[in-house]
Amino acid sequence: MPLRQRPVAPIWVGGRPQHGEDEFTVTHPWNGSPVGATSWATPGQVETAVRAAVAVAPDLAATSALERSAALEYVRRRIEEESETLAELITAESGKPIMWSRVEVSRAASTFRWAAEEVRRLSGTTQRLDTDPAGAGRMAFTRRIARGPVLGITPFNFPLNLVAHKVAPALAAGCPVIVKPAPATPLSALQLASFLSETKLPHESVSVLPASVELTKRMVSDPRLPVVSFTGSVPVGYDIQQAVPGKHVTLELGGNAAALVCADYSRLDWAVDRIATFGNYQAGQSCISVQRVYAESKIFDEFTSALVEKVQGLKGGDPFDPATQVGPLINVQSAQRVHAWVEEAVAEGAEVLAGGGVPDGADMAPTVLTRVPKKSKVVAEEIFGPVLVVEEVDDVEAGLSAINESKFGLQAGVFTDSLAVAMRAHRELEVGGVVVGDVPSFRADQMPYGGVKNSGVGREGVHSAIEDYTYERVLVLPDV
Ligand code: NAD
Repeated sequence: MPLRQRPVAPIWVGGRPQHGEDEFTVTHPWNGSPVGATSWATPGQVETAVRAAVAVAPDLAATSALERSAALEYVRRRIEEESETLAELITAESGKPIMWSRVEVSRAASTFRWAAEEVRRLSGTTQRLDTDPAGAGRMAFTRRIARGPVLGITPFNFPLNLVAHKVAPALAAGCPVIVKPAPATPLSALQLASFLSETKLPHESVSVLPASVELTKRMVSDPRLPVVSFTGSVPVGYDIQQAVPGKHVTLELGGNAAALVCADYSRLDWAVDRIATFGNYQAGQSCISVQRVYAESKIFDEFTSALVEKVQGLKGGDPFDPATQVGPLINVQSAQRVHAWVEEAVAEGAEVLAGGGVPDGADMAPTVLTRVPKKSKVVAEEIFGPVLVVEEVDDVEAGLSAINESKFGLQAGVFTDSLAVAMRAHRELEVGGVVVGDVPSFRADQMPYGGVKNSGVGREGVHSAIEDYTYERVLVLPDV
């Protein structure tokens, strides 16, 4: 049933379902079978979507907080009503195990719910200006002004919730939005677009356009779209930033997230379970999958042998099997690339503790490595596959500095019982978020989320994204 071939999904141009030019098939990463199809937007449809977004921007910005909140709440409800269909769609197009697709759907509903709540709180500030002689007799208010149409470009690994993270805050802020989904996984985004078209907001407010790289680049440089919100890989993100230095660009990029397991930590079994799970839960294809693990010497052997046992016990296989914990990578080439990096690390001296074998198509056994040279790609680059690198560190200080020895900085996890260590980690780790007592992969959709260093610029998370899509305009008044 889940792998039935669906009808060709329409693309959404200015809120209207249409068909583009060439159709393309979407395939299931587990076995390559077709699971649906859609079409590429034509240059004319892109132009229509851009014009619609520009034309509707003032009307959308003028809608009341109540109307926008009701529309977002409506979409939240539709996502929940259709949760199983959406979960199957995510699994069909991305190969994500169904247990994790259900989590993604529930998170997408929560993203819309938070946006529906946040829009009710969207306000400016009041400031007294008489703190300086020049400001005597005046005061200032600000209100948040919608920046205008947002171009959201999204990756394959969370085909629903990362689209939700562009659309929900944009609409909450009063900005029309054009989404360019990843070509491997456009179907969930197109299904979401159909729910959005049912709201009472002006229908021109949302377009979802599978578009070629050439047309996407054209939209990126289109001066009528003042905001580009990109989630994806570092090279593409930097290309976008360089192409449009004058635009408001948010980049949510990659990472090689690390966890530190401290000797004081009383729940070693929890740390083992979480690290094994979140190094592999989407075959490692999450920007905050655990990739590097540092464990203090005192517990290193005990921790590592328990981790290896846990990883070897993870159930791989058909992503539609409700028991499957680790599914395939997005395609065969990705699995081959990850395997090549593992082989390279082994040639450079790494020791394989689990996995490491040749992938079967896009399916790769979870792999654990140790004694890996720091320059090896599996440590220094984003592996984006089911590979954990575990290393021994002398103490907390060495662990924190090992985490910081990275060109990325998205999130880090620190397993400790010590408040002092937690506070120190928060002060010293060069990342956008520190998670104490859990993996770096923890994300709640309302919390500020984003990176430093090569992991990105700006913050998502519903509240932060709404701030990002608006700017404060000050009004100075005589304080009569
Ligand atoms: P990708 O960079 O290949 O593609 C992302 C999107 O950009 C896709 O829609 C793609 O079609 C589009 N694109 C490709 N070339 C483009 C160009 N030249 N100009 C404009 N758009 C272009 O990334 P991916 O393989 O789909 O996703 C994996 C990457 O995304 C990983 O690096 C991962 O860490 C990152 N990611 C980051 C976050 C985050 O929040 N920080 C979340 C999820 C994924």
